[in-house]
This record gives sequence, C-alpha cells and structure tokens, in this order.
Amino acid sequence: MKWPSLCQNFAVFLCSGASMKIFVTGMVLLLAFAGFTQSVTATELKGTAAQGGMLWGRVAVGSRVLLDGKPIKVGPNGNFVFGFSRDAAARANLVINRPDGSLEEQTLNITQRKFDIEHVEGLPPKTVTPPPEWAARRKRETGRVRGARAVNTDETFWLAGLQKPAEGRFSGFYGSQRILNGKPRSPHYGLDIAGPVGTPIYAPAGGTVRLAAPDFLLEGGIVIIDHGFGITSTLFHMNSVDVKEGENIRQGTKIGTIGAKGRASGPHVDWRVNWGGVRLDPMLLIRQK
Ligand SMILES: [Zn+2]
Repeated sequence: MKWPSLCQNFAVFLCSGASMKIFVTGMVLLLAFAGFTQSVTATELKGTAAQGGMLWGRVAVGSRVLLDGKPIKVGPNGNFVFGFSRDAAARANLVINRPDGSLEEQTLNITQRKFDIEHVEGLPPKTVTPPPEWAARRKRETGRVRGARAVNTDETFWLAGLQKPAEGRFSGFYGSQRILNGKPRSPHYGLDIAGPVGTPIYAPAGGTVRLAAPDFLLEGGIVIIDHGFGITSTLFHMNSVDVKEGENIRQGTKIGTIGAKGRASGPHVDWRVNWGGVRLDPMLLIRQK
C-alpha cells in the first residue's frame, strides 16, 4: 500500500503527522460516522403504503414518532405501527425523534386506489332503514364497538401477521361504494367471506377479546379482538359466538361460526381491521404475510 498517495485523498490533518496511528484512528472515526449517519437516515418500514394499508417499524427505545405532526405510540421495545384510511392523501410525513437528539424525516407516498361500486339486494328492509325504536339500542351498540376499538395496549400480536378467518369465497371488498336495496350508502369497510351457516371462524391473530355479543341489530353475532397498539379485528354476522370478553386467544382459535344475522343478504363473515378509528383493508394485511 502506498500511504502517501492514499493520504492525499484524506483531510490534510490526518497525514500531517504522517503517523500510522493517527491515520488508523481517523479511519475508525470515519467508519463509525458512516455507520451512524446510515442508521439516522433509514428506519425500515414494513407493510403497504396504500389507502387502507398498514406500516410498521422499530426505532431506538425512547424515540418519538410523529405521523403528519401527531405523535403515535412507540412500545417499550421501540415498535410502532400506523395505518391509512380509504381516503388518505397521496403523501404523509413521518418524523422520528431519537433520544440522542437526532432527527429523521421520511415522506411516504401513499398509493391512491380506485374502489368499485357494489350493489347489495335482498337485505331485510328494517336493517337498511332502521325503525326509530331501534335508535337507543343502536347507540348503545355502536358505543360498545367504539369502546372496544379505543383500547391501546403494548401487545404486539399484529407483528406476526393476520390470516384469513374462514374458508370461503370473497363476496365483498373494502372500500367499495355500497348501494343497499337500491339506496346509496357509505363505503363498505370489511372483507366479506361467504360460506355455509356453521362454517368455523378463527382468530386472524392473537389478542384479547374486547367485545363478544350474540345479536347486535346490524352486525348479528359480533367479536372484536384487540391485537395490541390499537390494531383490532372485528368479525360479524356470526351465527354463534364461542368466546367471552376478556379472554386471551391465539391466532387460529375458533371464535364462532358463519351466519346471516343482522344486515346480511346471505351467510358470510364480515371481517374488519382498525388502527384505532382508522379503517384498514384486511386483504392488504393477509397478502403481505
Ligand atoms: Zn360486509
């Protein structure tokens, strides 16, 4: 090796003493700095950056993570997760503020999707235009659903991925604009899986059962599983519900069976995934496993 020529390529101070020791020290410092800057610029995100998609990653313990200026949960091991709604904008801003004072900023490009129009006929008319006497009960039921989805624990069952909860044909999709018995309604946020009444339904991921009820007005039999960090699975139109609130279950635990209860035109399970109040597309989550 020709040290002098190599030295010409480095800062003068490294070579001024022409000392090997200084040179080696300089190299170590340079490499350490290169390693440091690399870790600052690249927090790896996993998942799908799309409307209805979920992204997650891991940062140094004690970091703060902000999505579009709002802090999101960072777990005791540095895990974080977030998701995008059906109508999310094309860009999002992610800022990671580390305990060592360093700052990372990422612009996320969110794939904009096109959603179909879906006509659903043959629904019980009462469930499409609920009678006024249903209002009080409906309010109680939606309150329980909101409460179950508001839980935000340190559990990380969502990290293992989510799996399809039942065997059967996909019969309804996330995001589609719905026309129910000829009446335009808000978009559909579930993935529908059709199968005969009595087909087993399994937990898409492990977690704690936050809601288990046999007969809601529009949902029929309903179960909400908390997978941690505000990620929940909601499954409904169930014929039977085999789990209880507070129960800890594993991925694949049988939670009940397919039915046609509530506002359903035929036997199926409607599976929804939320990040808190943000509705995600279950199809994206099973595909990225
Ligand atoms: Zn549905």
